[in-house]
Amino acid sequence: MNVYDSERMLETVSKTHNQVKSPNDADAILLNTCHIREKAAEKVYSEIGKFSDLKRKNKKLKVIVAGCVAQAEGNAMLQRQPLIDSIIGPQMYQHLPDILLDESKKRNVLLDFNEQEKFSKLGAKRNIASISSFITIQEGCDKFCSFCVVPFTRGAEYSRSAQEIFNEADSLCQKGCKEVILLGQNVNAYHGINKNNKQINLAGLIKELAKINKLERITYTTSHPRDMNDDLIELHEDSEKLNPYLHLPVQSGSDDILKNMNRKYTSKQYLEIIDKLRKKVPNIALSSDFIVGFPGETKKDFQDTLNLVKEVKFAQSYSFKYSRRIGTKANRINCMLTEEEKNERLQVLQMVLNKQKHSYNKTFVGKRIEVFIKGKGKKDNQYRGTTKWMQSTIFESNKHLETNKVNLKVKSAMDNCLLGDLI
Ligand code: SAH
Ligand code: SF4
Repeated sequence: MNVYDSERMLETVSKTHNQVKSPNDADAILLNTCHIREKAAEKVYSEIGKFSDLKRKNKKLKVIVAGCVAQAEGNAMLQRQPLIDSIIGPQMYQHLPDILLDESKKRNVLLDFNEQEKFSKLGAKRNIASISSFITIQEGCDKFCSFCVVPFTRGAEYSRSAQEIFNEADSLCQKGCKEVILLGQNVNAYHGINKNNKQINLAGLIKELAKINKLERITYTTSHPRDMNDDLIELHEDSEKLNPYLHLPVQSGSDDILKNMNRKYTSKQYLEIIDKLRKKVPNIALSSDFIVGFPGETKKDFQDTLNLVKEVKFAQSYSFKYSRRIGTKANRINCMLTEEEKNERLQVLQMVLNKQKHSYNKTFVGKRIEVFIKGKGKKDNQYRGTTKWMQSTIFESNKHLETNKVNLKVKSAMDNCLLGDLI
């Protein structure tokens, strides 16, 4: 979502400012920040520290902090780091041009939640487009999982109107986009208004977007198990444009931990969703997030997570050590594991998950796949792209490629990607 937000912020200032390659040439530096785990949040301060020489040399230079760290820490950021000129929360990006043009030395602090105004002012017309482009369709969250800062930093759940999203997708497709990645902290809770003023869900929205001729692939992330409704599950079987991929974070396989996390589903209910999906799309690529070392996680709880992982067999996944976040409910539970215990569990889990990813990728060897090219690889004649199962893919071509879409025959599967030959 921060990639999408950064693109939108660049678009809002494109009439008055040019993008430069290095901070050394800039009159304004904008840092878009993430607050989800402590490590990401702390990185912001060390990054800003690097600008002190530039600020001394260029009196005009403005350092602006955007994103969830700005929202969470507010004025305290200005006190802790004097190099910051202004801070702007995730729902106020429409005001960025005013901040950049403001010649007073005022330190602006914009932290209101005004999603509707934000999206209507940002508009649906897009200048920055790539073959796979992000579109935020939903923001914020009302679920309050006990470990998570999102409801505090992004605000209450908000869905954009279907027409606004359709126009944005259409605008991207006019500029070469062939795949949209629909974004939301709780994307499958989407409930926007369509052009007849009727509420539609995510399945309804995807059906609308699928009418855009130039759009070939649609995917969405991140979904919550509680909102994985039958309409959406069925659409995975029925829609030709919906990618056979689902990122559905389970976080833990232990029912006690899930309860303390306030996730409001059990491991059995999660497995039932997976079962339904696999009945519709047997080779669907399933992905999840995991947190290890949540306060009070016993060896048995961790074993329950491993058991669930072994049962599901994920195609890919993201796993994290629990990180304490101020203001969240879990931060008040006094039963922390040591860093060593958390590291050990993370390592064990990742080993199993990596093996599963490799096994999933191996089922593609010998198959013919279509790949959307995302850029050049490490070697001169190398390209990288993605499949509709969201696997990274690498291939070589000695001829310059005129297209951004190719067909490959998969020759081997690595842990993290597929290797293919051009057909
Ligand atoms: N809405 C999504 C997740 C959004 S946050 C969901 O409910 O599944 C992205 C991921 O960051 C989460 O899935 C979780 O695994 C991780 N995360 C969030 N807060 C965390 C914390 N305090 N410590 C460690 N990981 C965390
Ligand atoms: Fe955070 Fe996701 Fe839980 Fe919302 S549902 S509080 S975004 S982890």
